[in-house]
Amino acid sequence: MPTYLKPRGLKFAWLFCVMLAGCAPQSPLNATAQTTASAVPQAQDGKFHNNYVDTLPGPLTDLLRWQWNAWRNNLPPPPTTAIPVVTPDLAAIRANAAAGSAMRPAITWIGHASMLVQANGLNVLTDPIFSERASPVQWIGPKRNQAPGVALADLPPIDVVVISHNHYDHLDVASVQALNTRAAGKTLFLVPMGLKEWFAEEGIQNVVELNWWQSNTLGGVDFMLTPVQHWSARGINDRHKTLWGGWAVMGPSFNWYFGGDSGYSADFKDTATRLAPRLAARGGFDLALIPVGAYEPEWFMQPQHMNPTQALQVQRDLGAKHSMGVHWGTFNLTDEPLDQPPRDLAKARTAQGVPEDVFSVLAIGETRFLKP
Ligand code: ZN
Ligand code: ZN
Repeated sequence: MPTYLKPRGLKFAWLFCVMLAGCAPQSPLNATAQTTASAVPQAQDGKFHNNYVDTLPGPLTDLLRWQWNAWRNNLPPPPTTAIPVVTPDLAAIRANAAAGSAMRPAITWIGHASMLVQANGLNVLTDPIFSERASPVQWIGPKRNQAPGVALADLPPIDVVVISHNHYDHLDVASVQALNTRAAGKTLFLVPMGLKEWFAEEGIQNVVELNWWQSNTLGGVDFMLTPVQHWSARGINDRHKTLWGGWAVMGPSFNWYFGGDSGYSADFKDTATRLAPRLAARGGFDLALIPVGAYEPEWFMQPQHMNPTQALQVQRDLGAKHSMGVHWGTFNLTDEPLDQPPRDLAKARTAQGVPEDVFSVLAIGETRFLKP
C-alpha cells in the first residue's frame, strides 16, 4: 500500500466523524457578567445561527468532494520551509506575569490559535491546545507539527482562558483540565453560550458563558464575546448547539481582540462600530489576533475560514493598530501547506501597501512586547 494512503484514509475518517455532526451567565467570585446590548437570541430550533450566512459548513456532498480531491491530489503538499520556532524566554514571561500593574503588554505564540496575552495586569490564554492531536481521540486526527512554544507546565499562573468555540483545535479537553487543575480552580474560563455544561461535565466549575455582545469584567478588564462567522460541533449530533465568537478585551492600558476561527463577514465592521465609543479612549484596538490559515480550497473553506487577503481587510474593519496572524503552522487541517499562510500574507501586504509591522506573524515560542 502506498504510504500516503494510510494518513489520508485516517484523516478522511476523522473528518467524516466530526463533520457529520450536526443559558444565563453565572458569575464566580470577582467576576460579573453583564448584558451590554441586546443579546442574540438562541433560535427556536435550539441552534445558533450566523448573522450573514445561513448554513455552515455546507452540505455533506461538498465535504466529500473536497476530501476526494484532496486524496486524489495528495493534498496538502508538505511544507517547503520550516515553521519558525524559537526557545521561549521564560524568565521574561514570568517576570512580566508577576509585574501586576507594571505588566508590559506582551504576546507569546504557543501554536495554532493558542496565544499567551499579558496585558492590563492579567495573564490570558486564547484557545489553549497543548495535546499531540486536535481530535476527539489521541490516536487519530490532525497531529501537531511541533511541540507547543511554551510547555503547559512552564506557563505563568493563568488568570483567564478565553475559548472561541468547541472545535477540537480550539477546545482541547486535556489542556483545559490541566489548566484548571494546576490553578486549583482559580483560572476563569470564559466561553460562548452553551459550553458551561460541557465544562461542568469535565469537572471545571469556574466558567462564565456569554452570548454575543455580553461581557464579563475581571480586574477592571472587560471581556466581550463578539460575533464571527463560523459554526460548532464536537460529535455527530451537536452541530450549532453551542455558540462561537471572537473576544474583544478592553482594559485601562491595552485593548485587544481575538478572532478565534472565522470566515470573512461584516461581523468585524459591526464589532468596531458597536464598540467604537468604548474603544475611543485608546483609539481602537491596540492589537488583533486574526486567523490566517486553513483557507484552501476556497470554494469550500471560505465561508468558515478567511484567507490572508481577507485577514488584512479584517484588520482594517476592526481598526486595529497592529495584528498578528494565528491559526496556522501547527495542524494540517486543510489543503494549503502548513507554511503557506505567511507567504500569502506577505503577498497580500505588498499588494495592499501594508507595512510588515502592521500585520505579521510570530515564531512559535516567540514573545513580542507591544507598545502600551
Ligand atoms: Zn472551527
Ligand atoms: Zn480552527
